Amino acid sequence: MKSNLLRQLPAVHEVTKEISLEMNGKNEKEITRAVQDAIAFWRNRIQTDWNSIDLNADIQGLIKETIRKKLASPKNQIRTVINASGVVIHTNMGRSRLSESAVKRMTETAYMYSNLEYNLEQGKRGSRHDLTEDLIKKSTGAEAVLVVNNNAAAVYLILKALAKNKEVIVSRGELVEIGGSFRVSSIMEESGALLKEVGTTNKTHYADYEKAINENTGMVMKVHTSNFKVIGFTKNVSSAELMKLKADSPEVIIYEDLGSGALYPFQAHGIGEEPLVSSIINQGIDLVSFSGDKLLGGPQAGIIAGKKKYIDILKKHQLARVLRVDKFTIAALNETLNSYLNEDFLSIPTVRDILKTPDEIKIRTLELMGQIHNRDNLKTDIIEEFSKVGGGTMPEVKLPTYCLVLKHDNGASYLANLLRETRVPVIVRIKDDEVLLDLRTVTEEEESILIEAINSVTA
Ligand SMILES: *Cc1c(COP(=O)(O)O)cnc(C)c1O
Repeated sequence: MKSNLLRQLPAVHEVTKEISLEMNGKNEKEITRAVQDAIAFWRNRIQTDWNSIDLNADIQGLIKETIRKKLASPKNQIRTVINASGVVIHTNMGRSRLSESAVKRMTETAYMYSNLEYNLEQGKRGSRHDLTEDLIKKSTGAEAVLVVNNNAAAVYLILKALAKNKEVIVSRGELVEIGGSFRVSSIMEESGALLKEVGTTNKTHYADYEKAINENTGMVMKVHTSNFKVIGFTKNVSSAELMKLKADSPEVIIYEDLGSGALYPFQAHGIGEEPLVSSIINQGIDLVSFSGDKLLGGPQAGIIAGKKKYIDILKKHQLARVLRVDKFTIAALNETLNSYLNEDFLSIPTVRDILKTPDEIKIRTLELMGQIHNRDNLKTDIIEEFSKVGGGTMPEVKLPTYCLVLKHDNGASYLANLLRETRVPVIVRIKDDEVLLDLRTVTEEEESILIEAINSVTA
């Protein structure tokens, strides 16, 4: 009976032919591998566990089913990709990668129980807020801190809890939309705060703010115009200057949505003009908020830092419970902040990638180029180019880099499409009908996957 079943095992080439027709366009080698694997799997199953198989089973049919399942690319499932676009904080690809220590801490926290809301000193209920608050206070110099799900949630909570039914003054030059789904004016409306626009698109003066304040003013909000830059005839007022408004109107809260929020002094290293969060806090501002997964290089989170009396109100608001972060976020944020406090900046992938020099990228690109198989339909080259920070952060900053150029006879989009269908999809840039790959955002461990992908699609 076992031998009966074994006899039904088909030959690799027969099945391969049939499946290839069905999978029209899919890589031949990948199909052959899937066929071999499926036949081996069923041979093994018959040999070791034959009495679990129905004697009248259609073995060939079962094998084909196994192959189809294996070859069906998981479409609507989250998958890892190679980001060869050179955009470091790519919102479509998950923004910041996490450091090794952050991933390790997340995994441990997932695998075991933790002190998430348990005070180990007192042996009773504790607060999850305490687990991040001290580290962020140390990193930013703030009096108090609250972490919520993302920065959009932070903005919403601040407006709702501190400025509902009150006027919030915002410069017309800062009424931004970020990433298509976050508009300052809409979120304000949703929160019940009343938007009071001042100034013009390119110029807003201190006096504009001063004149707009009345007895119903709850807040002056500054929004970091992270994803665009108005150049030329411009004027805006810094949050430090805005603090002077408090002399006459002490009850008005001065809040700045920093967007990215840098904890590393990129500006001092000649990259962009993003101020350090601590420098804004040092100027005495009431509240700031920023993302955890942009320049900071941590998990998705919204960090609110500032004066304790306001943070205490936020912590007590019902929405704080609705918007609270989970243990994985806390674990990853803890480790990322530890890296900053230990000045181990290069262990944070976002910081490391932004700081990579064109020379080190060039060396790796040349090595990679040397491993590409010679093909008649493919020309390779290396050119000077620019990478971007991304995430709506430092839009004007061009990070000098080198790119590997792939010029395929069938055109750039043909090649780019194939690269997206490989085992680990590769996302590239296209320029002048050439495919550009920027190793700034590719780790050394990922290079072998990248080479395998390039050589398989140009074969
Ligand atoms: C990115 C950004 C946000 C939204 O932050 P998320 O963490 O994506 O929710 C809000 N405000 C500004 C200025 C931003 O740059």
